[in-house]
Amino acid sequence: MLISFSSILKMKCDVLTLFPDVLTAYLNESILGRALEKDLLDVNLVNIRDYSSGPHRQVDDYPFGGGAGMVLKPEPVFRAMDALKKDGKPRRVVLLSPQGKAFDQSMAEAYAKEERRFVFICGRYEGIDERVKTLADEEVSIGDFVLTGGELGALVIIDAVTRLLPGVLGDENSIKDESFSWGLLDYPHYTRPREYRGLDVPQVLLSGNHEEIRLWRRREALKKTLEVRPDLINKDGLSDRDKEMLSELSSEEGDQE
Ligand code: SAM
Repeated sequence: MLISFSSILKMKCDVLTLFPDVLTAYLNESILGRALEKDLLDVNLVNIRDYSSGPHRQVDDYPFGGGAGMVLKPEPVFRAMDALKKDGKPRRVVLLSPQGKAFDQSMAEAYAKEERRFVFICGRYEGIDERVKTLADEEVSIGDFVLTGGELGALVIIDAVTRLLPGVLGDENSIKDESFSWGLLDYPHYTRPREYRGLDVPQVLLSGNHEEIRLWRRREALKKTLEVRPDLINKDGLSDRDKEMLSELSSEEGDQE
C-alpha cells in the first residue's frame, strides 16, 4: 500500500543509540540515501553516551539482584530525551525490545501515516533499565530472536516505513503487488537472459499476453503462500478465480503427498 499524497510525506526520527555509526552506513546507501538527499527522510542520530556523566562516561552498570551481564543505565537515556523534548515537537517514542509487539507490514503502513516525529530507543547489553519504558509509547520487536542491540530494529522500521512514502521508490507500482501488501507473498521475478545455465524463464512471461501473465503471477503467489505461509491466506479477500486456483493447488499438493 502506497501512502496517499494527502497524508504525511516524510519519515522523521531521532535514534537514541550507543553506536550511531552502525546506522550511518546503511542509511546513506541506495534508496534510503536518496530519500535523505530528497528530504523525504530525516534521521537525527543521538549518541546516548553524550548524556552520560562522570569521568568515565559510564552508560552501563551491574544488575540489582545479581545475574549475568550489564544493564544500560536510565540517566543518559532520560537526559537525551529531555534534550530532544526542548523543541516542543510531539513525538512517538518506540523502545526496541524482543518483548515488544511484533513489527509487520500493517504496522509499517500505520507508521507511514504518523505525523509525529519518531524516537527509536536502542537498548544494548543485557537490556535497558526497566524505568526507561516510562518514556516510551510502545515497545516493538522485529522478531522472535534476540539481537545484541536495537539498532538493526530501528533500521528495519525506518527502511520498511520510508519505502512506502511517495517519491521514495523509482516506480511506486512495485509496492502494490509486494509480499504482504496484497495478503499474499510476491510472485517470482525474472530478467534477462532468457536462459541461464540451463534454467529457462517461464514461457508465459515471454508471451506478451498480459491476462495470461497476470493469472500466472497470481497462481504462483497463491502457490508460494500456500506452501510457506498458509496463515496469510484470507479467503474473504480472494476472488472466485483465486479460490478456484487455490483448490486446484491444494489438490495438486495433496496428490504429491
Ligand atoms: N535480556 C533481553 C531479553 O531477553 O528480552 C534482551 C536484551 S538484548 C541482548 C539488547 C537490546 O537489543 C534490547 O534492549 C533491544 O533494544 C535490542 N533487541 C534485541 N532483540 C531485539 C528484537 N528482536 N527486536 C527489537 N529489539 C531487539
